[in-house]
Amino acid sequence: MLPRLVGRDWTLWCAPRAVVRRVVGVTLCWAVLVGVAIVGLRPRWVDVLAFAAFVALGGFAVVVSGRLGADLTVFPAARHDLLATWTVAVAVLLPPLYPTVIGLPLCWLAGRVDPVRPPHLRLFHAAALGIAGFCASSVHLLLSPTRGPFTVDGLVGSGVAAAAFLSAVAVYPLVASLPGVGMTRAGRGDGLDAWLGGTAPGADVHRPVGPPTRASRLGREPVPARAVEICSAIVVAVLWAASPFLMLAVTPPVLLLQRSLLHADLLHAARSDAKTRLANAAYWRQVAEREISRAARAGRPLSVLLVDIDHFKQVNDRFGHLIGDVILLAVADTLRAAARPRDLVGRFGGEEFVILLAEVGREHAVDIAERIRRQVAATRCRLDGRPPLSVTVSVGVATHHGTAGDLSALIARADTALYRAKADGRNRVRLADPLCTPA
Ligand code: GH3
Ligand code: MG
Ligand code: MG
Repeated sequence: MLPRLVGRDWTLWCAPRAVVRRVVGVTLCWAVLVGVAIVGLRPRWVDVLAFAAFVALGGFAVVVSGRLGADLTVFPAARHDLLATWTVAVAVLLPPLYPTVIGLPLCWLAGRVDPVRPPHLRLFHAAALGIAGFCASSVHLLLSPTRGPFTVDGLVGSGVAAAAFLSAVAVYPLVASLPGVGMTRAGRGDGLDAWLGGTAPGADVHRPVGPPTRASRLGREPVPARAVEICSAIVVAVLWAASPFLMLAVTPPVLLLQRSLLHADLLHAARSDAKTRLANAAYWRQVAEREISRAARAGRPLSVLLVDIDHFKQVNDRFGHLIGDVILLAVADTLRAAARPRDLVGRFGGEEFVILLAEVGREHAVDIAERIRRQVAATRCRLDGRPPLSVTVSVGVATHHGTAGDLSALIARADTALYRAKADGRNRVRLADPLCTPA
């Protein structure tokens, strides 16, 4: 059985109950909306045919994104499917029942592409898509001066029609990103998305756990995927209203867009350490070189913390390397939580981590290091059937203040300080001697 981890700062403990509440709540709410939409439906063949066409197009997007995502062996969950391109178009073109249920076939298909996703989560994701679709479609129906089937004129031909159209389009991502509905970015800190398992169809790209500021530093997207989806949904809806045959022309560019969004995911994979989801050593060094030159030019201080888990070999020897990996991840998450948003935490190698503190002088760096040391020591990892486990870390602190900008020398000083912390008994912070610069 996989170990379950509990910690004061590193908690997945409350996730299962919260997930159950979220899954049941969203699914029930969606079921009620389906009932309401059925009652209000006046069936038309033309709508059924349009729905079938959009299911085929959305399904195609899901399958293609599954294939693209399969290449991302480091972060298999990271993929864009641009599904809202099709589901938002359904919401503005068809009566509410269709956007409310379109998630069912699409999520079933996503489950075929990605069989790891359990069935209740497929239903949850379908429900989340459905709620957003129902709200957007209802807003469009309420505000639009005409009823479907929509022509281009009916959709955007007048100021009122265009306002109704754009309002409906705006409502979809708003509802979809409501806390609890489910299509949130991972890493909001509630740990839920990790439990909700993998990428929801239509969800934004998944990132390692951690505040967005740090996550985005690992792979920033020039234009958010959600904005790209909504823009392409507007184009698709208007072109469909002009002639459904134009879908033949619009599908290849949308697929190309999907592929181009993969760039951010690949960048992220190239910069991250797969085991701890921190910056990898190469990327950390790249950022640190840039920051130290900037600090040297501006005459600002910069500090580096070298953090090493104490007696980690004993943890491996006693509990095995798999549990060791879990502890490693817990420590990494604690470091990330304890550091400030602009600090870059990286895995230096093995059970050693490195933290870059830009514009932080000696005293402040020691305070931060002490806080990190205390938080790691206070983190309890409860492994099933065993007493809670905690580890400690030793930290070496070195500060750069001057014009030299030599990163290797700075790391070497932090390393010496770390050895002193180990020699002095571990679970402590030691500050490197200040550099003697010639007068
Ligand atoms: P010290 O307090 O002196 O740092 O003792 P230590 O046991 O932590 O240090 P040592 O350098 O002797 O051992 C480091 C251990 O870290 C050995 C290695 O098995 C373990 N380790 C390194 N990388 C990983 C990893 O990715 N996963 C696991 N489970 N263990 C790792
Ligand atoms: Mg070590
Ligand atoms: Mg160690």
